[in-house]
Amino acid sequence: MNYISTRKNKERVSFKEAVINGLSNNKGLYIPEDIPQLPSSFYENIETFNDHEIAFEVLKPFVKDSLSDQQLRQIISETLSFPMPVVEVQENLFALELFHGPTQAFKDVGARFMSRVLSHFYSNKKENLIVLVATSGDTGSAVANGFYNVPGVTVKILFPKGKVTPYQEYQMTSLGGNIDAIEVDGTFDDCQKLVKEAFNDDELISQVSISTANSINVARLLPQMLYYFFAYKQLKGQLRGKKLIVSVPSGNLGNITAGLMAQKMGLPIFHFVAALNANDTFLTYLNTGTYEEKLSVPTYANAMDVGNPSNIERIIHLFRDDPKPINETISAHSFSNEQLLQEIKQCYRDNDYLLDPHGAIGKLALSQHLNENTVGIFLGTAHPQKFSEVIQKAIPSYSVESIKSDMCNKKIIKNSFNDLKQIILCTAKPH
Ligand SMILES: *Cc1c(COP(=O)(O)O)cnc(C)c1O
Repeated sequence: MNYISTRKNKERVSFKEAVINGLSNNKGLYIPEDIPQLPSSFYENIETFNDHEIAFEVLKPFVKDSLSDQQLRQIISETLSFPMPVVEVQENLFALELFHGPTQAFKDVGARFMSRVLSHFYSNKKENLIVLVATSGDTGSAVANGFYNVPGVTVKILFPKGKVTPYQEYQMTSLGGNIDAIEVDGTFDDCQKLVKEAFNDDELISQVSISTANSINVARLLPQMLYYFFAYKQLKGQLRGKKLIVSVPSGNLGNITAGLMAQKMGLPIFHFVAALNANDTFLTYLNTGTYEEKLSVPTYANAMDVGNPSNIERIIHLFRDDPKPINETISAHSFSNEQLLQEIKQCYRDNDYLLDPHGAIGKLALSQHLNENTVGIFLGTAHPQKFSEVIQKAIPSYSVESIKSDMCNKKIIKNSFNDLKQIILCTAKPH
């Protein structure tokens, strides 16, 4: 399988090169050159496979030039080490709970997969690899946890000052070791820009090996396809001729991109819903057909506070040769803080189900698309406990666990590339 750039050029690279490079030569995102269909017998019998077998069948075509079957099976078994249950919230409306991993958000899967893949590719190199990652909260904690103590790798996590929850900050700053947390005086988009600048800095690149663990890396993107297969496997028996609608709480649009790829592999998903908070860049794109980035605004669903979602390039690429217009496959809806609080309160009262702020938006967006011919599922992307301050605003009786911050360690920088560069050069051993 070759990977190509979303910004047209002649570059064709293997899975290994795509993972290590992070971004293509011309600063586009890598995307598989073609997406293989799995045989219809796979979908007909999906319930007879266990999750590790499904993961192997789905991922193998994308990685087989760079990983042996045995290596892939090993990485899968270390990645999928926690349950991802489908839970009925109300009639014909389900949640796929992706938050039972070590940092209680769906990003654990991509981060664990990528850390093991990178460590494997670097196992016989001498130099230390520096992994840069910008986070609005959950990526940082998942990456910190996924890469902690992985040999040969140092991680630099950039997070926006005052815009992550105390629990998220604790998860990023408490590990130490090969994990460096860097607080940036700016927004998530500023953090993301700093990471992109590092890759554009020829002087830096000539001195250190850097890679990124953001959702732009194909090693983060690919395993996210599995969620949709696991959802389908668990819901198949309930469909009885009805159409499956999947709602994805979205920020950088990586997760929904993976869903679209799963659909291209033949997975029978009828329609996708991009569930957005006030950061509605993607909604505007679907409405107008032209892409214009916006400034990000802080919301209670902070993992989705993205004004310039990177993966839009991949989505546009996926639809380039598609005979159906994009709006037939995806819709988007945007909801306010007040609406998500109301939804958390109401769902708890009526269904005895506790939503986190991201899941609440997922459920709200999904509800716009349900009728007697559909079955809906939203992705439960984070555990409510991770956002207990917000939950308490909606449900005053909910108790908030206090965080011990005295064990935490972070570096603080201005929104300045030079500050970041100094930190990278200081810790890197030049090769
Ligand atoms: C990252 C994240 C999202 C957004 O996912 P994208 O792939 O960036 O669209 C949604 N919810 C939670 C809890 C997240 O951590």
